[in-house]
Amino acid sequence: MTNAPLLLLRNANVFAPEALGIRHLLLGGGKVLWMGEGDPALPAALGAEIVDLDGLRLVPGFIDGHVHVSGGGGEAGYASRVPAPMLTRYTLAGVTTVVGLLGTDDVSRGPAELLAHVYGLREQGLSAWGWCGGYHVPPVTLTGSVRGDIVFVEPVIGVGELAISDHRSSQPTLDELLRIASEAYVAGLMTGKAGIVHLHLGDGERGLDLVRQALATSELPPRVFQPTHINRKKALFAEALELAKRGCHVDITAFPVEEGEDAWPADEALIRYLDSGAPPQRVSISSDAGGCLPCFDGEGRVCGMDVGHSGSLLDTLNALLARGLPLARALPAFTCNPAALLRLPGKGRIETGFDADLLALDAAGSARHVLARGAWHVRDGAAVRRGMFER
Ligand code: ZN
Repeated sequence: MTNAPLLLLRNANVFAPEALGIRHLLLGGGKVLWMGEGDPALPAALGAEIVDLDGLRLVPGFIDGHVHVSGGGGEAGYASRVPAPMLTRYTLAGVTTVVGLLGTDDVSRGPAELLAHVYGLREQGLSAWGWCGGYHVPPVTLTGSVRGDIVFVEPVIGVGELAISDHRSSQPTLDELLRIASEAYVAGLMTGKAGIVHLHLGDGERGLDLVRQALATSELPPRVFQPTHINRKKALFAEALELAKRGCHVDITAFPVEEGEDAWPADEALIRYLDSGAPPQRVSISSDAGGCLPCFDGEGRVCGMDVGHSGSLLDTLNALLARGLPLARALPAFTCNPAALLRLPGKGRIETGFDADLLALDAAGSARHVLARGAWHVRDGAAVRRGMFER
């Protein structure tokens, strides 16, 4: 569908993420051009489209910092390679920004394919970046080095998901981790990008020990090490809280958790994080969309399989609200926190001059409308823009 050059959203109950109350917003050129309390009374000659949100809650589009945009999986034979999620899998879930990555399979899949998917999502109106590397050491790259990829390949903002404490990892040593982290960090200095290591944490007993050693034996700032999947084990989560208090940013995964499992569901994990006194700006939640969620027996055999999807973010937000967490307190982990750590300019907030990435929630907590860079993707709960191969 075509979009008017200017769009006036009237009577939005704005959470920027902080609660601003009822505001009118003028969008144009992909940005929030203006936001205010009084009706701007635009001249008809401007041809603005005017939509009244009737007090719907308007929040920043979600930033999903851990997405297998080219598809993940592969742990249970070739047939277990997960297909790449299509555009509306993101937009119908309120996700307007993704950071793509490779996981266990960084050999039959590679950085060129990953970047092609990142560029493809951008062509379709989403905002997309990527991590170089994958689970293994040395990290797979386009240019031959982590530093080269971050410095010369525009969408690449860091390296990940590098696996530690996992039977599927390369069993990296401290020196190997430090060398990779230093490359990311220096490339970040050179470019103004995040320049961090996004660390996949497995179920291993060693937990975050390697990160603590890295902090103790190098000059790298804690911000450079971002562990993810920290809620997969309760003991690991406790370790992650300590690291957050020391300066690391930690990432919760919104994967399904069975009753009685030794893991925290994402909503429980965020509430525990916020209650712990750890800095509220150092936590994010991602979906692992497009990745497979296998469980293994003691011999390393796959005994069950599921696929991550972006909708788990909205499910988590609604679970948090149902438990009484104020929306303004829940939102940063999905929006401004990842935007700040990942240094994504113009992202994560509803603010004049920022990108018009917006999600309007209905009373039931579903995505009523989604705009990405000011363009309609979801309207009245239905996708109005579809991916190239979704008809
Ligand atoms: Zn992972």
